[in-house]
Amino acid sequence: MSTAITAPETSADQAPPQTFDSLDPATGEVVGTYPIFDAAAVNETVARARTAAAWWSNLSFDERGEYLRKWAGVLTRRMNQLAEVVHAETGKPHSDAQLEVAMAVDHIDWASRNAKKVLGRKRVPAGLVMADHAASVEYLPLGVIGVIGPWNYPVFTPLGSISYALAAGNAVVFKPSEYTPGVGAWLVNAFAEVVREQPVLQLITGLGATGEALCRSGVDKLAFTGSAATGRKIMHSCADTLTPVLIEAGGKDALLVDEDANIDAAADAAVWGGLSNAGQTCIGVERVYVHEKVYDQFVNKVTELARDVRAGSDPDAKIGPMTMPSQPGVVRSHISDALERGATAVVGGLDAVGDRLVQPTVLVNVPEDSTAMTEETFGPTLAVNKVHDMDEAVTLANASKYGLGSTVFSKKRGEELARRIRSGMTAINSVIAFAGIPSLPFGGIGDSGFGRIHGPDGLKEFTYAKAVAKRRLPAMLTLTSFSRTPKADKMVTTLTNLRHG
Ligand code: NAD
Repeated sequence: MSTAITAPETSADQAPPQTFDSLDPATGEVVGTYPIFDAAAVNETVARARTAAAWWSNLSFDERGEYLRKWAGVLTRRMNQLAEVVHAETGKPHSDAQLEVAMAVDHIDWASRNAKKVLGRKRVPAGLVMADHAASVEYLPLGVIGVIGPWNYPVFTPLGSISYALAAGNAVVFKPSEYTPGVGAWLVNAFAEVVREQPVLQLITGLGATGEALCRSGVDKLAFTGSAATGRKIMHSCADTLTPVLIEAGGKDALLVDEDANIDAAADAAVWGGLSNAGQTCIGVERVYVHEKVYDQFVNKVTELARDVRAGSDPDAKIGPMTMPSQPGVVRSHISDALERGATAVVGGLDAVGDRLVQPTVLVNVPEDSTAMTEETFGPTLAVNKVHDMDEAVTLANASKYGLGSTVFSKKRGEELARRIRSGMTAINSVIAFAGIPSLPFGGIGDSGFGRIHGPDGLKEFTYAKAVAKRRLPAMLTLTSFSRTPKADKMVTTLTNLRHG
């Protein structure tokens, strides 16, 4: 039987491994203590994963699918318990944590049921000149995938990589955020209960240096979710070993409100999209561009709804404390910069930012060059600006260096506007909907990263294309031989001319 979580080993004459604490963001109390894996311990874990990968990749898609659905079953039956761990480590309300688990389970199920169809061997046409060959392509697992996760959705986000990588036949070594190691341990333990034969999914814990060691460990791909700044460091570390990377980084998502939009629905979506999870959502709404004809109506509705949202640690609070102690400082600086440059706070303002609890802030008339419009705020704030028309809205939405998600509220022009926004995903007349649809790829462009999790693209991301050409008839034309004749050369010219001339 495997040991899914193997703490770094030490001999009698070595110092015990260093540890770090995971804290309850509401109280600062220690929730758990975890070992810091050094480079040697990371490499040992990856070596174990290699053996596990050989076994796992030899199973059929159906066999792996069975295991994955059993794991999804464990997550579902113990959802309450897992949500409690998420709540303890991130501070988010229990019900939000449950929603996150439910969405993640849906993805495991989809990946397990679709891997064969998406990745399995398929015949493809060989073409006229190569008609004596049969051609096929299949997508084979890369081997061992390193997954580095963030803390804001510590179940949903890393599982977007992990479950698709596993379904594709890879073993995974997972480093959760240092803020949510307990959630990572829970997920890996649950997997080990189901897959007892080999350590197919293993946990390593630690800070940035442990993540860097994973980048340099020789894994076959590194799937990173976190900030763009860390994404750059990951690429540097992975460059030395030419390890391919998937980067799911931050965002500055815009929501567009057209003149014919359902204003109540748009305001509700803006408030939930911007403030839920205390704004700590990569695809959270941060900027809102509203058609001048409906601007006042929209701002009034948003103000009314946002005033009803309270941050707290009690069960009735709609949003929890900020998970990272440093984040309120970032939120304060963005609000302050916007106000200094002429914005107005119609809800909240600088006083809304406490030490750990940050109450909602809605800013209007926010200068486009203020940090509240250019940098990821990652707090419960919304910046709302008036536009003359939707062309201006699209131009401003696209002026960001980020390009993760976006939202459009419009009755007539939703699809047209969605296509014109330069972002990996867009929801029309709802918010964040694309994340809950497992068949849709998830990811961004620009500073939001590259590569995709979820959907068929998310499965292929953890594979390599294997192309096979097999002779099926005696050679009609001998082309790839020094015995090629002038007649064959002429035939190639004739055929090519017939086809393309
Ligand atoms: P972060 O970049 O600080 O950390 C992410 C992970 O990287 C952590 O596990 C951390 O330990 C590790 N790490 C730090 N330094 C490292 C290094 N030098 N080498 C290797 N690993 C290193 O991000 P965070 O604060 O945990 O998460 C918040 C960010 O994540 C936000 O920007 C948010 O938008 C983004 N995010 C993106 C998505 C997405 O799918 N695009 C999803 C969730 C969160």
